[in-house]
Amino acid sequence: MFTIAIDGPSGSGKSTTAKLTARRLGARYLDTGAMYRAVAVGCMGAEIDHDDATAIAAYCVGMDLDISTDPDDQYVRLGEADITDAIRAPEVSAWVSAVSTNPECRVDLVKRQRDIIASDNFVAEGRDITTVVAPEAEVRVLLTADPEARMARRGAELGGAVDEAGLRDQILRRDKDDSTLVNFTVAADGVATIDSTFLTPDEVVAQVLLLARRAGIDVD
Ligand code: C5P
Repeated sequence: MFTIAIDGPSGSGKSTTAKLTARRLGARYLDTGAMYRAVAVGCMGAEIDHDDATAIAAYCVGMDLDISTDPDDQYVRLGEADITDAIRAPEVSAWVSAVSTNPECRVDLVKRQRDIIASDNFVAEGRDITTVVAPEAEVRVLLTADPEARMARRGAELGGAVDEAGLRDQILRRDKDDSTLVNFTVAADGVATIDSTFLTPDEVVAQVLLLARRAGIDVD
């Protein structure tokens, strides 16, 4: 069994790369950011205060989370509720740092993530996969891109629904908050950096597959 770990900031192309790579290798796909977002959606629904770290941690530890690992059919459920679309709302992107800065939430989510990726061949993406969740992964990649390229990609994804100030908040402010938790701007030892600023998604995937082949993973 293998794990391919891909970390990077928002808009670096992690999700596209990880999904395409998983599809190409017939592996499962885990979007760990979606798990942090799911906690935020659950807490917001339960009207938990953004500053109430104890209540946020208690919610996280007790939640019934079901996240799809099929790269072609992604869904996120909390109990019976389908929150696949809800986790992408801009309010959630703003709230999520209350979850990701909560140490008890991180311990709980890292454990859930390790359990999931131990069950099959996985391509997992996030901020701390190469360093904390799966430092033993066969392939470890840090995906980067210039801030302008990342803002432009996120803007295109949102179809112009968010202005430049909103994009700055979603990309640059979140980078700053997230980088207080884990270092995902400098590659740790043994982690390959791929700069996607001037690469197409297929070109990035080709580089990941090259690393996979070198690690002894059957790519053909
Ligand atoms: O990747 P995405 O933007 O969906 O992640 C949402 C948030 O979840 C990030 O801004 C970060 O705060 C948090 N996160 C994290 N560790 C991960 C994945 C995401 O702290 N492995």
